Amino acid sequence: MRPFHYAKPGSVAEAVRVLGANPDAEVIAGGTDLVTLLRDGVRAPNQLVDVNGLGLDRLAWQQDGGVHIGALCRNAVDDSRLRRAYPALVLALRSGASPQIRNRASFGGNLLQRTRCAYFRLPEFDCNKRAPGSGCAALTGDGAQTALFGASPSCVAVHPSDCAVALVALNAVVRVEGPSGVRRIPVEEFHVLPGDAPQRETVLRRDEVVVAIELPPAPPSHYLKFRDRTSFAFALVSAGVAVEVSGGVVRSARIVLGGVAPKPWRCGAAERELVGGPFTEASIAKAGDAATEGAKPRPGNEYKVELVRRVVRRALTELRNA
Ligand code: SF4
Repeated sequence: MRPFHYAKPGSVAEAVRVLGANPDAEVIAGGTDLVTLLRDGVRAPNQLVDVNGLGLDRLAWQQDGGVHIGALCRNAVDDSRLRRAYPALVLALRSGASPQIRNRASFGGNLLQRTRCAYFRLPEFDCNKRAPGSGCAALTGDGAQTALFGASPSCVAVHPSDCAVALVALNAVVRVEGPSGVRRIPVEEFHVLPGDAPQRETVLRRDEVVVAIELPPAPPSHYLKFRDRTSFAFALVSAGVAVEVSGGVVRSARIVLGGVAPKPWRCGAAERELVGGPFTEASIAKAGDAATEGAKPRPGNEYKVELVRRVVRRALTELRNA
């Protein structure tokens, strides 16, 4: 592991200044991902900027019924109102990691965690995300975990977060602070597709700090995750769904997939199958089929297409029957 300096700023503004002064600095929060990347030689910053202890670890309920979740709130957060208002989020968090990990992992860190592509985490393999221009070992290697949507010839990795999938389904916004003030970015637009620069995974600037996640009031929601073992593992396919029904008609629907793209993947075609009609077994079946629209399976991940169809159908059915 490369030696690094440690900074413990006393405010977000100071953290922003430290980050701005050192292009080789990195933020550390819970450290559940970053520490393993440092240990394995995947990341080697010369300075860590610790953002714990800056008052970013609180839930703030809003008058409209929404909530602002501090970026340093832990993923083990247990709040009965959160469970009632945002079941998709709580289910996603619980399915994401063991209680021990969730006691350390933060909301901000969860959004910023790096891909679990095995080749990214093993420095002996070529990886454009870790070492731009070096190649992509996944293109000729094991393709079982690779993306169905949004991949590029440079990178076919998927984003690993469960929480981010639920947050997109719930129409959440990320609040960040930087040298020019506060920016509010929909979680849906926070992560970017790899294109020819897969090393860049979000729109966060290197001198900005994630300070909160803002959740508006949300309709009934659900999260369903399929993984290759029943203990904790990353999603093969997951779905976050939020559907508003009134007068027997679906007024709004957000359907978001995890485990299949470099970012939480919104299924507009599936949503359109639901909105404006009754929430029935037939419309759910059509939504499941539509969710696979645009899928580009690669050798080894073809199974995910049918899994997408079934996970979306089941998530919507469980939501309807709740
Ligand atoms: Fe690296 Fe992306 Fe290729 Fe994985 S898929 S080896 S993360 S470039």
